[in-house]
Order: sequence, then structure tokens, then C-alpha cells
Amino acid sequence: MIGDMMKNVIVVGAGSGGLSVARELSQKPDLNITILEKGPLSSPREAYKYYDVWDKNEMELIKTDVVGGSSLVIAGNFVPALVDELKELGVDIRPQLEQLKEDIGIDVMPETHSGRINDLLRDAAAELGLDMQAMPKGINPSKCKQCGKCAWGCPHGAKWSSLSDLEVAQENGVELITNEAVTGLIVEDNKIKGVKTSLGNQYSADVVILAAGGMVTPKLLRTVGIRAGETFAVDPFITVGGYYKGAKQDNEIQMNKYIKLPHIVISSHTSQYLLPKIQETHPDATVDDIISFMVKVPDNLKGHVYLNEVVKGIDFEDASLLARGAAIAGSILVKAGADIESISSTHVRGAHLIASARIGDIVDSNLETEIENLYVADGSVLPKAPGLPPIYTILALSRRLGQYLRDNL
Ligand SMILES: Cc1cc2nc3c(=O)[nH]c(=O)nc-3n(C[C@H](O)[C@H](O)[C@H](O)COP(=O)(O)OP(=O)(O)OC[C@H]3O[C@@H](n4cnc5c(N)ncnc54)[C@H](O)[C@@H]3O)c2cc1C
Repeated sequence: MIGDMMKNVIVVGAGSGGLSVARELSQKPDLNITILEKGPLSSPREAYKYYDVWDKNEMELIKTDVVGGSSLVIAGNFVPALVDELKELGVDIRPQLEQLKEDIGIDVMPETHSGRINDLLRDAAAELGLDMQAMPKGINPSKCKQCGKCAWGCPHGAKWSSLSDLEVAQENGVELITNEAVTGLIVEDNKIKGVKTSLGNQYSADVVILAAGGMVTPKLLRTVGIRAGETFAVDPFITVGGYYKGAKQDNEIQMNKYIKLPHIVISSHTSQYLLPKIQETHPDATVDDIISFMVKVPDNLKGHVYLNEVVKGIDFEDASLLARGAAIAGSILVKAGADIESISSTHVRGAHLIASARIGDIVDSNLETEIENLYVADGSVLPKAPGLPPIYTILALSRRLGQYLRDNL
């Protein structure tokens, strides 16, 4: 039977990396591809229901467990990151970045979608000699209603998500199994043979591609003795803001403009966590009265993801970069008209869960581990923290793996 002769490929995780690799691989007709996903299939507008926030340390780490993974809640920022560093490791992602630019339609938003507060902040930054530029976005302006709800899951179908990769993969015959988490790997003679799941099932496979995200993939690798997870980065961020009556920045496209300084990115962004702090000086303030910036920095690789333990803190270097960014952000906010006494900051969070199974360390330049036919295609493989939006690079790396396997399986 032809079916018996087909190779079985299992992709673990239907997130950004997993769906990107599945889309590419699905164009090879003689493969039997199954995606196993822990979360359910949901509509992008309900993505906020699937946040899985880890807050057992001094930093809050954020991801979503749902088909589409964290791509459903991105701010829509697409910036090429770590391209030169990857090239030095023998990984050239420039062709895939070009393909993605076209497929996703990455571009800055038109003037009509600039945002009143974004413009105000840009002008205040310019007065201080800082260049605030438009962020490249994967958002279709003709559908975007500027509701500011990108991180909740786009209610208007304007923002790109990995569900478009799923659509292509499914048209090409890929099977998606939801609500079933992979809990272990089956290995014989140093070759991958399949996976075990939370429902007690075993699926046999000739090739397994792990794409469960930077906080889960290393755990799966550790179940078979691979020393992943001994590094971990998250690009820590805070949101710094103050009182500005009637700002309504929460109704503008989030992170629509940004300032890039050495090791610090400052971008327009609202966080509801600021409200109680601002109410200490302005008791009647509402979310509409917040004017604020996100300050994000690349962290070092200190931290780990073990089977039963995740540790990620901030050290002196991270803290001093965040403090420097906060001081600059505060100066711009005051210049823009925020009440200086109300300026405050959120706690530290991290939404780029990366560098826990790095290229050159745990996987080779084709993203294969030391176990034959066991690959990784998610944020884990990034060699270091970019301090920049990583999804563009993760998608390019995963596409590149799909294309490599298409040609070589
Ligand atoms: C609020 C927010 C906003 C962001 N905005 C941006 C942005 O604008 N631009 C940008 O570049 N980056 C952004 N990021 C970061 C970006 O979304 C992630 O870096 C990227 O999506 C990670 O891709 P991934 O494939 O590594 O993991 P994910 O996309 O998280 O995919 C992992 C998948 O694996 C599934 N899974 C987990 N465990 C298992 C298991 N055991 N078995 C099976 N499946 C499993 C999960 O449910 C998920 O679907 C943002 C992140 C957040 C949280």
C-alpha cells in the first residue's frame, strides 16, 4: 500500500514555528504529516482566553496555548532579527525573509493609521533628539479598525496570524489533532520513532519536529537526555506611563512606532497594569487617560528550563538597561504632556520565550538534534536574545527547515 510507504512526520505544536514548517512540508505530496497541538482551535478574536501566564519567579512570562500559538496575540511587529548572527552560524534566512515579506504583506501602516498619541510621542521624542520610526507590521490597513486589541487577538481579521499557514497545510492534506499534548519522545538506536501524549496515545513517526515553544521544547528534549534548557532568554520589558487626560492611546495600534537605541527598544504601548499606579496621583483616571511606552531589552542567557523547574530572573545588567530605557521613556512622556508625578512602571514581563535549544549548541544549522530525524522549529533555536520582535526570524527559520526537509526527506 502506498500509505505504508509514505513517511510519517509529526509536528509538535501548532504555533508560529510549527505551522510555518508544516506549510512548507505539506507541499511535498508523499508525506503523511500530523500536527499535535496541546490547545484547542479557536477564533483569533478569542485568543486572549488561552493566555498561559507563568509568574512563579520575579518575572512574568507570557504565551498562549491554542492553535496558532502566540502568533494570535502578537502586536503584529515584523522586524528581521539576528540575521547576521545566524549567517555566521551557517544559516542564511534572507531568502525566507523575502518570501515572508511578500506572503504576509509586511509594511509600515499608512498615515491614516498613525494614531494621535503615536504622533504626539514621535514629535516629543524628536524635540529630545530621538528618532521614533514606524514599525513594520503584518496588519492589513483596509481591515484594521485601530481598536488597539492586537494582543487580545484581532477582532477584525486584519492582523496576520499563523492560521493562514494552517489553511495552506490543511488544503495540502495535513492533519491537525487538538487538545492533545505531547509528553514524551520515543527513541530507538538514537533515531526518533514517535511521540507519547497526554491522552496515553503513542504515534509512530519517521521524523519529529518539535515546535512547542521555548518554554516547552527543551523539556521534551530533556526527556530523552538532550541537555537543552540550560540557557533561556525572554527579552524582558516594562511599560512606563503617566497621566494624560483623554489620551485614548489604548485605542491606537499598539507599538506602531519605536525608537531603537543600542540594546533598548522603546515603543508606544498601553498596559492596564499601570492604571492602579496612576490612580495613586489621579484617583479618577481611567485606562483612557494613560500615555505610555514599552521598554524592552535583550537579556543574557542566564536562566533555565528543566523538566520540573523554570528559572528566569533579571540581573544587574538587565535592570540597568531597563532603568536607562525607563528614564528616556519618562522624559519623552513628560515632554508630550504627561504629569511628571504620575510617571510609573509595571512589573517586568517577558513574551519572547527563546534560546533554550540554540543553534550551534543543541541543534545544528539544519535544526536537527543529536537524535537522528528529531528537529526543532520554534523560538528555542535562536542563538541569543535579539531585544527585537523575533517572530519574523522564527518563521523564516521554520520555513527554511520545511524547505530543507522537502528536498532531503
Ligand atoms: C502578547 C504577545 C505579543 C507579541 N508580539 C509580538 C510581535 O508583535 N512581534 C514578534 O515578533 N513577536 C511577538 N511576540 C512573540 C512571538 O509571538 C513569539 O516569539 C512566537 O510566536 C513564538 O513562536 P513559537 O513557535 O516559538 O511558539 P508558539 O507560537 O507559542 O507555539 C507553541 C505551540 O505549541 C503548543 N504546545 C505547547 N506545549 C505543547 C505540547 N506539550 N504538545 C503539543 N503542543 C504544545 C502551544 O499551545 C502553541 O500552540 C509576542 C508574544 C506575546 C505573548
